[in-house]
Amino acid sequence: MTTQHGPLWGIDLGGTKIEGAIMDPANPSQALHRLRVPTEASHGYEHILSQFALLVSKLSEASGLPRPARIGVGTPGVTVPSTGLLKNSNTLCLNGKPLAADLSRTLGCEAILANDANCCALAEATLGAAKGHKTVFGIILGTGVGGGIVVNGEILAGPHGICGEWGHNHLLGEEDPCYCGRKGCVEMVCAGPALEKYFAARSGKALRLPEIVKLASEGDADAVATLERLREKFAEALGAVVNILDPDAVVIGGGVGNLDLLYTPETRAAVQKHLFNDRFDTPLLRPALGDSAGVFGAAMLTA
Ligand SMILES: [Zn+2]
Repeated sequence: MTTQHGPLWGIDLGGTKIEGAIMDPANPSQALHRLRVPTEASHGYEHILSQFALLVSKLSEASGLPRPARIGVGTPGVTVPSTGLLKNSNTLCLNGKPLAADLSRTLGCEAILANDANCCALAEATLGAAKGHKTVFGIILGTGVGGGIVVNGEILAGPHGICGEWGHNHLLGEEDPCYCGRKGCVEMVCAGPALEKYFAARSGKALRLPEIVKLASEGDADAVATLERLREKFAEALGAVVNILDPDAVVIGGGVGNLDLLYTPETRAAVQKHLFNDRFDTPLLRPALGDSAGVFGAAMLTA
């Protein structure tokens, strides 16, 4: 791929909105133009394609720029390299569709697709919290658990497109069934809904995570136990990744990833227990780009 000069265009496809941004590679921290249109996924696949076309027209109009030769697109799910078809998307009408080919045809330029978690990892590794680090593991720890791996500024995708999907590794002694068909996945233990479920089972109270965190700060035993369990299970899950990848930096995005406890010396010590090493020096970083990471990462696919 040749380097694209001039502004970079990125689009982030979400379940409710499609967001587009144009950024200047010389000053990438701020979008030149940024617009969104509703996804309206219930209207089906062809409608989503037409919403993309609408967004690109609006961006072109707002910026006065002709559409570029390439546009980066972050999507839920992944494109299977061997078939070009999308899979594992929670926007179900996309699954089994040749989205990259259809978008390229619809938009009249080459659409370069990547998983949205991979786009966030790419943005944080090249522009954000982990800028300057060689191997970066970018985590999404929120309502789900995902991740992406970026090496030397490039996403590792893998022949199955599942690189960095640590959320469906098994945790020792855990048995909760997962929608992926297996049991005891990291996502079934460490994601926000799993933490709320665990707390409810202990306390009999159905509370959202921020309320549980507040209770823990007040010393509530069930809330404290819920967060201590998160620390231990997160450490086990991350330790497995560090033993394989030994990244230079880890960026922890998502709502659960925002919790202070993940960045404490106690959590680092808990990770170290799972390592084939007697120390754990890898920085655990908060994301720097917030909700811009997805669309900036998509634009960086064309850099
Ligand atoms: Zn699973």
